[in-house]
Amino acid sequence: MREPASSRTPSLPLNRHLRRRFGASVLVATSAWTGPLVSAGWAQGAADSSLVAIEGATLWDGTGNEPIPSASVVIDGDRVLCAGTVRLCPVPPGARVIDAVGRWLLPGLIDTHVHLLFRDQRGGGRGMEADLRDLLARGVTAVRDMGTDPRTLLDLTRSIPSPRIYPMQLVAGPRFFYGREAVHNSDGSVTAYRLPPAQVMRLLGWTPILYQRGDRPDSVVAQAKAAGAIGLKLYADLTAGQVRELVQAAHQAGLPVWGHAWVQPASVMEQAQAGQDGVVHVAGLAGELYPPSARDTLRGATALFEATAAVATRESAHDPRVLAALDTLARRGTFLEPTLDATVHRVAHYEATHPRHATESEAYVKAASEFGVEVTREAVRRRVRITAGTDYVAYGPSDERASLVGELALLVDSIGLTPAAALRAATADAAVAIGGDAALTLGIVARGRRADLVLLRANPLADIRALREVEWVMLGGQLLRPDQLRREASP
Ligand SMILES: [Zn+2]
Repeated sequence: MREPASSRTPSLPLNRHLRRRFGASVLVATSAWTGPLVSAGWAQGAADSSLVAIEGATLWDGTGNEPIPSASVVIDGDRVLCAGTVRLCPVPPGARVIDAVGRWLLPGLIDTHVHLLFRDQRGGGRGMEADLRDLLARGVTAVRDMGTDPRTLLDLTRSIPSPRIYPMQLVAGPRFFYGREAVHNSDGSVTAYRLPPAQVMRLLGWTPILYQRGDRPDSVVAQAKAAGAIGLKLYADLTAGQVRELVQAAHQAGLPVWGHAWVQPASVMEQAQAGQDGVVHVAGLAGELYPPSARDTLRGATALFEATAAVATRESAHDPRVLAALDTLARRGTFLEPTLDATVHRVAHYEATHPRHATESEAYVKAASEFGVEVTREAVRRRVRITAGTDYVAYGPSDERASLVGELALLVDSIGLTPAAALRAATADAAVAIGGDAALTLGIVARGRRADLVLLRANPLADIRALREVEWVMLGGQLLRPDQLRREASP
């Protein structure tokens, strides 16, 4: 089968030069994996243990160091053995050499916010496999699933090509399970009633856990752990006291706790003070603009959308109450995951379709978009830790979904991060945000870390959109090519 020019064998003189220089056999870089990829097996170190050296790329290793030109990265099985200059990391005798001259080498990208499992949309089989291959082809080597069904997701993905998956367990209060809300037309008349969100999620095959007064937080944590979750994702209808109980129980068991910013009624300030590790969806900072007594009545999705649309503006993003919450996040090291690209996609969707029965109001999405950009700018100014989650949702045409490169481009263009800072939000900082084993093994290219890498044909430090130019992805030492991943996914 014909390969595109970009993935052909490197030129012979260079191969000869490398052989002479390193006395090593040169790996013809088209020889990607041919057998089935069992991602979990790979992740456990089932890879070929032979040595591989990636030579000549400019290495951006995610540690905060300056990029290293003409770098050498030596891999032993599924781990990085050495990363740095050729002098620091000479090619070991017998290593296979991958020529990467003129390319840029980065840690594999991490998307800290995806939803992968949609039983009634595209099933957990072929559709999901295509999505996972697509993510890999985009250089994404790890994802955090922000709440579907951890056990089923892990079971289904054990034997298919996939980024590493870190699933969170959804937890919410009673209203999320039993509340039925009216959806209003612009004239105030009722257009429809929403099913309780938990009921909708169950139809999708998701498994949210109910937490209400009198429940034991440690039993929620035990249930989450038994399902294979690596942390809790708080969704809705939880008070500040309940957030604190869940955080204490989860932390005692070594699990992080994240939640929607403004988990209704608990505000972002209250969530941070309760010790929560991160908040997602920056528009939720609109909750700070309501006093506790008002927030107590603002529970449920409709209330959230209407209350946000009523107060979220470019100006209110700079309100002292919002800034105080951001300062608390910064002081406590609580992460903020803005999910800007998802909002941009939703605005574009409304503008293109004007749906009659929207699941969230157009006014909310537009307000959330403008407010969210301004609040994220303030957050960066105040040194809040940012992570790049997309809220990638596995349905609809893939070009209509939020993407990691889209999120990073917004962080650069709209928020003013440097490309390197944006990259950190999707590599080193993302690994820390996931926590646990991911924090220790992913996110940077350094000795002992997993050999999860992405090689680009263009310089992402000059233009972050170079992330679209993926030459190959390496997952646990295994080389994967985007065209091959996508070809094998197509029927
Ligand atoms: Zn989400």
